[in-house]
Amino acid sequence: LEPAYQFMIRTRTPGGVVTPEQWLKLDRIATTYAERGLRITTRQAFQFHGVIKRELKATMQAINAALIDTLAACGDVNRNIAVAANPHESAAHAFVHAQAAALSAHLLPNTRAYYEIWLDEERVAGSGEEEERIYGAAYLPRKFKIGFAIPPYNDVDVFAQDLGFIAIVEDGVVAGYNVSVGGGMGATHGDPETYPRLADVIGFITPDQVTAIAEAVITTQRDWGNRVLRKRARLKYTIDDRGLDAFTQEVERRAGFPLPPARRFDFVHNGDRFGWIESDDSGGDDGLWHLTLRIVAGRIQDRSQPHLTGLRAIAQALLDAGDATRPPEFRMTANQNLVIANVPAALRARIDALVASHGLGEHAHASPVRRNAIACVALPTCGLAMAEAERYLPDFLTHIETLLDRHGLREQPINIRISGCPNGCSRPYLGEIALVGKAPGRYNLMLGASHKGERLNTLYRENIDEPEIIKALDPLFAQYAAGRASGEYFGDFLVRSGLVRTGIVATKALPL
Ligand code: SF4
Repeated sequence: LEPAYQFMIRTRTPGGVVTPEQWLKLDRIATTYAERGLRITTRQAFQFHGVIKRELKATMQAINAALIDTLAACGDVNRNIAVAANPHESAAHAFVHAQAAALSAHLLPNTRAYYEIWLDEERVAGSGEEEERIYGAAYLPRKFKIGFAIPPYNDVDVFAQDLGFIAIVEDGVVAGYNVSVGGGMGATHGDPETYPRLADVIGFITPDQVTAIAEAVITTQRDWGNRVLRKRARLKYTIDDRGLDAFTQEVERRAGFPLPPARRFDFVHNGDRFGWIESDDSGGDDGLWHLTLRIVAGRIQDRSQPHLTGLRAIAQALLDAGDATRPPEFRMTANQNLVIANVPAALRARIDALVASHGLGEHAHASPVRRNAIACVALPTCGLAMAEAERYLPDFLTHIETLLDRHGLREQPINIRISGCPNGCSRPYLGEIALVGKAPGRYNLMLGASHKGERLNTLYRENIDEPEIIKALDPLFAQYAAGRASGEYFGDFLVRSGLVRTGIVATKALPL
């Protein structure tokens, strides 16, 4: 007898878009093979948890049969590409998503091993020696993450990505992208050689230059990245070691064109927009609606509420309606929520009824802090976790809501993030309030990020437990309630008033 191994499988779903038909297939896979239903990740992928070893292959084959793969969802290659779930600019979203999906396909490794191992593709002579033109024989020094943002929403936290594309939309048309490089969240407790870093904006490109720039950035990292110290192997350290100017010049040389200055853009926040939103495309009113639902920690199960069953019913209702001109979609957000997109007005009431009857309406009644909080999976699933995150999130938010009530701040949006360890899968260093796990029940309390994802937070108290966290936040909320300027967010107030040290701000390079 061998140990009862179980595995996590993560999909490659660029921009987190799946059709209702695919949703139903993924639901079937989750209920057949996975332990706890579906989980939406902070990179807009699905994770299936608890897949037992002898069912791994059948699960992989079922996922591929749904026309979704898991290739390069892990490993030292480009990972799942994140794309703004912005439901407001739906024509721009469709354009940006198509570009991201094409880039994702372009950056797949050429290896046939995946197909041979999981999909029974026959091995032919010479296989195993495929030319990896982009990745080379040894792949990248470490994982690589790309995100596409569509201002004014920074829901992908573009400055946390190794490579970011910030869409510049003019009159409803994507004129191009500002390019950002060198973001990354991961760190190690007590090791000053590792740190979270925000990306730098290095210039502007037109849409036809996306592939060339991505290749130039990735191959520069491939050749310049640190292959001796794995903890220093991410692009952010390469840029800090070699200098941003030298890195940018090398990228321009490899791409074959210079980067003109970045164009102006403004983000309003890095969260999601909940509830129904109608398309507002400059190209004309398409009459479609988009509903963003709150999914706590991205977890979709039938537990206290039948969320999995409810979303299955919604997928079926969308399929039955069958609009071929602009098919409905499920769009996962990078904040682990879910957009039911491209819904004809006539179908809204039916969707609303299904949402209500399956307890999926948290977006409509939860406090802003509860709607926007993110937690990584942590215990008991993640082997790296030092403390609880997902399972602790609801209780922690209850404590925060009690504090906010006491200070008359209940309706104030404040971004809260919890990670079970400093790897930072919930992008905790961009939370206005963040807990980073140190040990069971103990966290580093990080404060002062901007509400737009443009400034990192800083360490406020180290290795403290829940009563100490509450005790630390209580007077800060009191001062915020008494001293905030009109419209001032909590993180900005903490920095302006000197209550926390100024966090590191993304360089936006906005000469225009
Ligand atoms: Fe990621 Fe650490 Fe959370 Fe695990 S515990 S999911 S590695 S942040």
